Amino acid sequence: MKLPDETQTCQNWNVLSLANLAGTGNQKKGNELRKRTFSISRAKDMPGGSPRRRSAYDPAMLSSSSSFARQLLRWYDRSRRDLPWRIDPAVGGEPNPYHVLVSETMLQQTQVATVIPYFQRFLARFPTVADLAAADEQEVLRHWQGLGYYSRARNLRAAARMIVHEFGGHMPTEPEELLQLPGVGRYTAGAVASIAFGRRAPILDGNVQRVLCRLDAIASDPRDRQTQQRLWQRAEEILPRRRVGDFNSALMELGALVCTPRNPQCLLCPVRDHCEAFASGLQEKIPAPKAAKPTPLVRRQTYCVRRADGQWLLEQRPSTGRWAGMWQFVTIAAEDPLDASAARAPAQSAAPLPIRVRRIHPMGIVTHSLTHRRYEFQVFRCEAAATGILADNCPRRWTTLERLDDFPLPKPHLRIAQMLRDQPE
Ligand code: SF4
Repeated sequence: MKLPDETQTCQNWNVLSLANLAGTGNQKKGNELRKRTFSISRAKDMPGGSPRRRSAYDPAMLSSSSSFARQLLRWYDRSRRDLPWRIDPAVGGEPNPYHVLVSETMLQQTQVATVIPYFQRFLARFPTVADLAAADEQEVLRHWQGLGYYSRARNLRAAARMIVHEFGGHMPTEPEELLQLPGVGRYTAGAVASIAFGRRAPILDGNVQRVLCRLDAIASDPRDRQTQQRLWQRAEEILPRRRVGDFNSALMELGALVCTPRNPQCLLCPVRDHCEAFASGLQEKIPAPKAAKPTPLVRRQTYCVRRADGQWLLEQRPSTGRWAGMWQFVTIAAEDPLDASAARAPAQSAAPLPIRVRRIHPMGIVTHSLTHRRYEFQVFRCEAAATGILADNCPRRWTTLERLDDFPLPKPHLRIAQMLRDQPE
């Protein structure tokens, strides 16, 4: 995409003018022009070609940049999804900054369809930033339960407390202030500042990154530092003067609906006339796919310990690290490869558990994959053989299956709880 900061002004202007040529009887002329122009830019931007030089912003190109924004916004107005954190255009009004912060936090690393019910439940329980600031952390974690990446929930509560105690209960409006909030990085600060307050702040999430790489035919790895800097710069350069929040949302929406990681729908794309990857037939190759890295496997043994009155033993995880502060069935590291067969049920003496147990029966293996590691939990049920629990620093509680909902449990332990419900004996 040629936008105002390019040095190859006349060629870039030609590219941006193609949309105007198309549909005005000059289609053929436009196609010829496009071929000529893209052959120049492609040679210079592909690996091995000489890098393009960039110069200061050229106001003479602004109308072309505006045409890109206009086409994108027009498409967004027609095609945007009706999401609960968005303002219905028919109703109008301003987006609620707290809703934007909650939704953008939930959407990090998580798909829209997964987030919607969580967002609605979260807002029903914590309707204002003051409600969230006053909430107990365990309750916040319970409302985040199953969404994963729980540090987001703890940070969101900490951010709400900072907004109440240091910003007088009002969400900061500027990106620099938003960056002071726990868990708020450059992307979230830009999203809240632009969507909720109309500030000219860029955003760069996975979707926008992919769209910009294709528009500019950037073949380098979008995760490397220099490419990130270049993409942030581009994300800022292309911001329009008005409707900045809608423009940022439209870029994300385009990446989610049209410019998808695989099989981008270029023929339906509202900005294909600005897209170098499309013109070069490189849309499927940009960005280059990630080299698959082996993810380490972590093995655990989980013991569901039941005492005579039918209650189960839970323990609380440490206050730092993965699933910090959440609750789980008694879990220890497993040395050996897992095997759910009855023959591998460990002897009591081999299991360093916080309570003496008997009648250990294997229940199965629960697996759980995260971005950087995989877990395998070999699950056993057993009976408490004593009333005394080892006294250490780990908080523990007995509870019934019916009252498990009072405790925030990580996803693998939610599945283990379901196994207990499905296999009563
Ligand atoms: S033309 Fe294709 S590759 Fe280019 S932005 Fe549109 S969907 Fe993405």
